[in-house]
Amino acid sequence: MGAGIESLRHSTQVGRHSIVTAVLITFAVVVAVVTLMVLTAIGRVADYSNKLDDERSWETTVGALKTFQGQLEATLHDHSARNDAARSVYGRDDRGWVAGNYGDISSNGALFDTAVIVDDNNKPIVAYHDGERMTENVEDVLGTAVWALVDQARTTRITGVPEAGGYIMTSHGIAAAAAATIRERSGRIPVPEGQRRYLILVRYLDAARIKMLSNTYVISGLKLMPPETVARYAVSIVDPLGKSLGRLVWNSREPGDLSYQQVRPLVLGALGLVGLFFVVLLILGSLAGRRLRAEEVQARQGSLRDRLSGLLNREGLRLDVDRLVERARSDGSNVLLLYLDLDGFKEINDAYGHGTGDQLIRAVAAGLSVLVPAQASLARLGGDEFAIVFPTKELNDAPALRLAEQVLDFLSEPLEIGRRVVVVGASIGIASSQEGRTDREELVRRADLAMYKAKEAGRARMACYETAMDAHREERNALELDLRRAIETEELTVAYQPLVDASSCEMTGVEALVRWNRPGHGPISPEAFIPVAETSGLIEALGLLVLRRACEAAQQWPELRVAVNVSPGQFRNPAFADYVRNVLNSTGIEAGRVTLEITEGYIIQNPERTRQSIERLKALGVKVALDDFGSGFSSIGYLRQFGFDRIKIDRSLTMNVLEDSRAREMLRATVALARSLDIPVTAEGIEIEEQGRALQNFGCDELQGYFYGKPMPEAEISKRLSIQNAAALDEERGAAA
Ligand code: C2E
Ligand code: CA
Ligand code: CA
Repeated sequence: MGAGIESLRHSTQVGRHSIVTAVLITFAVVVAVVTLMVLTAIGRVADYSNKLDDERSWETTVGALKTFQGQLEATLHDHSARNDAARSVYGRDDRGWVAGNYGDISSNGALFDTAVIVDDNNKPIVAYHDGERMTENVEDVLGTAVWALVDQARTTRITGVPEAGGYIMTSHGIAAAAAATIRERSGRIPVPEGQRRYLILVRYLDAARIKMLSNTYVISGLKLMPPETVARYAVSIVDPLGKSLGRLVWNSREPGDLSYQQVRPLVLGALGLVGLFFVVLLILGSLAGRRLRAEEVQARQGSLRDRLSGLLNREGLRLDVDRLVERARSDGSNVLLLYLDLDGFKEINDAYGHGTGDQLIRAVAAGLSVLVPAQASLARLGGDEFAIVFPTKELNDAPALRLAEQVLDFLSEPLEIGRRVVVVGASIGIASSQEGRTDREELVRRADLAMYKAKEAGRARMACYETAMDAHREERNALELDLRRAIETEELTVAYQPLVDASSCEMTGVEALVRWNRPGHGPISPEAFIPVAETSGLIEALGLLVLRRACEAAQQWPELRVAVNVSPGQFRNPAFADYVRNVLNSTGIEAGRVTLEITEGYIIQNPERTRQSIERLKALGVKVALDDFGSGFSSIGYLRQFGFDRIKIDRSLTMNVLEDSRAREMLRATVALARSLDIPVTAEGIEIEEQGRALQNFGCDELQGYFYGKPMPEAEISKRLSIQNAAALDEERGAAA
């Protein structure tokens, strides 16, 4: 059921899925790009700060080497420009002084490791190492590059001071070395060139000293590597001859990398949080969206459903019929539509109240749901109308007829509603759209029309649409239109049929029967237009018109009772008694002279309501007769409880009284029973004298029929009455005479 809505929902779901996927992908790409950008930026900052740090380390290392050498040069300056040194070296050649000062100091180790004094020919005069006299050849230990320093000191080319310093390769490894001319404090050299003495101090750059530099200058992992070592940052140590001795390298601290490593998890965490935030936002949004859509679908479905029964409503049916007709067009199937109107629902609603009515609707809806085929859509069109639509491969009405029969069977069973048991029936109209050739609007119109035809034909019927119905419907619509006008324009007249006393054959009353001479059609039987008046709501106006005319006419006939027919449609209206009272008051007729005739059909369906209505009418003083008795199935015993003042036996019973002995016996028993209950009986449809006589014998006190007088105009009744009165007067006179 409701497959149309289903497919609608499916298509919106597909659309939503692709949107969500697109949003998710876009979102993931954005988060990835942002992450990449932020990490790249941080990486660049890290690289830059790494570079800065390495450059600082380079400068520090260069500075450390300079300082290492500078300290040695300062020591050399202190020891070479000394008056006592010049005196002892150039004067007495005091080896003791040299040993005590330079030799001992070299053993101290903090300032220098080796001290050598050479002459102008670079010939060592004394040499100390670590406080001991050196036994090795000086050149073997210090290499030849040291002589370049001595040369510089000799020529004072560079500083103007006879001192020079640099790094040299020794047999103990790289060392800072410095050479200076030994002189007086003032700078005077007491001896000429060729006799001069030079002091050479050497300080080894060994592993311990490098470690010390590393600690002092905070250069992590500072170490000496061979000159060919490749490193991004390194400080080369070059001897005075320009030869590379080695390279100082260090562990790059990469502070950028460090902070990068520290920052990265934070950044990733933050981005993750942002991502999570958006994901949560997206989920919440999608949830909210889903809820909104669900509500929308629900609202839409709700708008397609009937609240009371839970079935589809008219709009829901419309969509499903459209869908099925559409499909039938493409696959050549057949769409069958059943319109169903409950019989007697209004009466049940009136009698037991809306609560029971609602329960009945729900019970019927539940029952129908079980009966209909699986692919059928079931709808309530409001009030007591239902519809069933389903597709079939059979290109005829047979499946619908079979279903209609099941539905009528189901509804013919008494339904238990709460503590009550009610009987409803249904009229079913059937229409089909074979291969989708009949569109929805026409299909619905046909099913509706067929349903009305079924109802007209009598309750609990089904009818399939036929084209002739359209002509009928049109004729009926025209009739209704004309009838409406006829009620307003006095085209309707009332004929009166005599009711005679069974024993004296005197006219004691009349039955008012409506007459219509329809322009262009001639007289039309009430049996043709009363049903139209009943189904079009015109019956109340029509009935009141007849009642008023009859009461007015009866004013001229004080000795006659007047009987007026009342339709169930009038009788059902709780205000009916008030209308009657109005008419009685305005016409001034005595209530006891008026008899209202009602048929048994309504009574059976609404016993409670009928009892109340009858009580109200009888309270006004009018009489109530049961019309057409014998055309239904009720027993007099049952009907007695309603307090009828009279029973009228239907013409269908009386017309056979002479020919059919069985009918005669039944009639006799019926009249006898009514008499035993003290209910007077009228027999209608008496066409020949013998019929009247038979019925009089059975116990009928009043007779009606063509034999006693056809329905006739008011004036005829007046004429008849005056003749009858004159005859009675004659008889009285005769009796008196
Ligand atoms: P009904 O109440 O059973 O009325 C009696 C019908 O039988 C009348 O038909 C009358 O003309 C006809 N009739 C009377 N005697 C004979 C007879 O000896 N032989 C034959 N063949 N027919 C006889 P009518 O006037 O055509 O009315 C038909 C029905 O229309 C009435 O049946 C009544 O149910 C309804 N009707 C007539 N006038 C009114 C009215 O003012 N209001 C309402 N609600 N119904 C009316
Ligand atoms: Ca009647
Ligand atoms: Ca009748």
